Amino acid sequence: MLIRKVKGDTYIIDTGFQVIPFFKLDTGKIIMVDCGLLDEREGIVNLLASEGLKPSAILATHAHTDHIENAAFFQKEFGVPIIMTEVEAAVLDSPLGLKTYFYTMSVSDIMKHYNNMVVKADTKIGMRDENVDILGAGFRIIMTPGHSPGHISVVTPDNVACLGDALASLDVLNNSKMMFSHTISRDIESKRNLFELEADKYVVSHKGVFDEIRSLIQPNIDYLEASANMILDLIEVPIGFEELYERVTKHHVIRVRDLKRYYMMERMIRPLIEYLIDTGRLRCSVDEGRLYYIK
Ligand SMILES: [Zn+2]
Repeated sequence: MLIRKVKGDTYIIDTGFQVIPFFKLDTGKIIMVDCGLLDEREGIVNLLASEGLKPSAILATHAHTDHIENAAFFQKEFGVPIIMTEVEAAVLDSPLGLKTYFYTMSVSDIMKHYNNMVVKADTKIGMRDENVDILGAGFRIIMTPGHSPGHISVVTPDNVACLGDALASLDVLNNSKMMFSHTISRDIESKRNLFELEADKYVVSHKGVFDEIRSLIQPNIDYLEASANMILDLIEVPIGFEELYERVTKHHVIRVRDLKRYYMMERMIRPLIEYLIDTGRLRCSVDEGRLYYIK
């Protein structure tokens, strides 16, 4: 794990798994954009302490484990205020909020696997807000919903755009069998809107710092299209969800041995099916109480 300068007072923590941007104030206080996984916590805390940096606020791009699992810890241990959109804040506010994300899991299973995600936001960003002031530093907010309902990208005072999971690097795309997107049609629209975003540097959580992102946008859209087309190719005759699920995981040689993994794959597969429905390539039919997907 190491810290690298991006531009001016904007830096990243490279955890190996992802990069976490932060903006440094004169006093050694830092405003983090996201805060990493539980597994990364000790490394992040030790690294910041060794550099004399004090976490002083967390601006979260979205409510996914790898971006906010340490938020409640930093809030409790360091008194760090958590700032996120009102939509993502509602998801993380309580186990019932989390259930809107993990919508097919029981609340008890959600709390067993994801209780670290629950956190009360100190400041909520409205879905039409364009700026947020944090400890005197002005951040621009770019709404990029789709990967999650209230996903944002943020631009630091150095004009460095932190894109969260709105885009992934080509390396990550090439090495991922499947990637999560909550509502793919909206995610693609947000990705296309990023063609208009002008910044001096761009930080992609998974993973890296880029001088330009135009060459990343179309491959990210193509990746989602290819994932959806792959599902379409696996359907010949009307098929139920469980059978389709089995075909998809077999196709990708993904072994599903426990409940957490089952639900994780389900959260990846369902949005792809829904995208095919949204784009008129698949339809649903109910026969004798069973739902079938039909080309
Ligand atoms: Zn995410």
